Amino acid sequence: MPPSSSALIIAIDGPAGSGKSTTARRVAERLGYLYLDTGAMYRAVALGFLEAGYEDPEAAPAAFLETLDVGAVPAEGGMRTLLNGRDVSEAIREPAVSALASRAAVLPAVRQRLVEAQRQIARRQLEQGRGVVLDGRDIGTVVFPEADVKVFLVADLDVRARRRRQEGLARGQDRSLAEVRAELQDRDARDQSRAVAPLRKADDAVLLDTSGLSIDEQVEAVLRLAAERNLSTPVK
Ligand code: C5P
Repeated sequence: MPPSSSALIIAIDGPAGSGKSTTARRVAERLGYLYLDTGAMYRAVALGFLEAGYEDPEAAPAAFLETLDVGAVPAEGGMRTLLNGRDVSEAIREPAVSALASRAAVLPAVRQRLVEAQRQIARRQLEQGRGVVLDGRDIGTVVFPEADVKVFLVADLDVRARRRRQEGLARGQDRSLAEVRAELQDRDARDQSRAVAPLRKADDAVLLDTSGLSIDEQVEAVLRLAAERNLSTPVK
């Protein structure tokens, strides 16, 4: 079946804690689309490095990356992330993995591999007439510059730190606000300054500041953009 006008690619980018994952997951649920959390894939690679004792991803031999098989499986309430067939959805949320993910994400070989996998997963869905919501840092600029809807979420650093601390607490990670804030700042700086696919808003992305928005408001804003896009796209 060819993709219909309602099978859109929705790209949601932005810094850590800006509300991407929750918004993307809910938008996908509401539209019956696949949700692809690309950050989880970078985290899985980082976990692979960590478990093999490569605390500096740049020090790992190039062939090591070939031994890591990252999978994204749709599941109730989002997606599960697999590393060499093992479900690592919880393990990749540990603070040590967050920090290492942005260091692994600097490596062109890591990016090339994951971007290719992300495009393949999304295209398979589109071929079946189903849309995809992807969240990350480079979806609107690199992975799918031709995405139908592009949103760039931002929020004040303090707001993002409070959100991340709350999420951590829900997982039993009790870290100080100052520590979480410093970690976010460090990751943002690395994500924005890397040579390959740095975090930046695509020129044609809609900027949405979520500092004062509820999750419902964020979700509605993205759904409105998707509805507008659908109205302006002739049925193929
Ligand atoms: O989104 P999340 O915070 O889980 O992503 C973890 C890290 O993975 C980010 O800090 C970033 O360095 C990297 N990442 C990326 N490109 C993406 C998604 C995530 O570089 N599309």
